[in-house]
Amino acid sequence: MRGSCTHKPTSSRLTARAVATISTGAALISGRTTMPTEISRQFRFEAAHRLPNVPPDHKCARLHGHSFQITIVVGGDVHPEQGWIIDFAKIDEAWAPLHEVLDHRYLNDIEGLENPTSEILARWIWERISIPDATLRSVVVHETCNAAAHYRPDAP
Ligand SMILES: [Zn+2]
Repeated sequence: MRGSCTHKPTSSRLTARAVATISTGAALISGRTTMPTEISRQFRFEAAHRLPNVPPDHKCARLHGHSFQITIVVGGDVHPEQGWIIDFAKIDEAWAPLHEVLDHRYLNDIEGLENPTSEILARWIWERISIPDATLRSVVVHETCNAAAHYRPDAP
């Protein structure tokens, strides 16, 4: 590990919803329902890994662990009455089975994660998460507070 995390992921649904509402409020007042808005949800899991393709003396070749922080970003039309794209709970439901597969595991043992860099882990999550009524925009994998991989294959 290159450092320890000192900030905490968003733990309050109300806080996250408040941020989304503030950022979209002006457009809601104007009556638009299609707004360039995204929402995100943060998750965390603990896991061990090692990187098999780095030089043997590289520190990441050794078995070690991370408190991975995952951000799932989705977009879509804002419902004219509900005022949201989807309930954050839908993202929680989509994440839950992946958490079960990843949390407190040795990532190298998981199919598709034989070389579990953050970049490959972000793509692995993208290919397996499905969120109804929203469009997946990006998956961000933080392996430390200041090191992250952003996977967004549909970005221009
Ligand atoms: Zn690592």
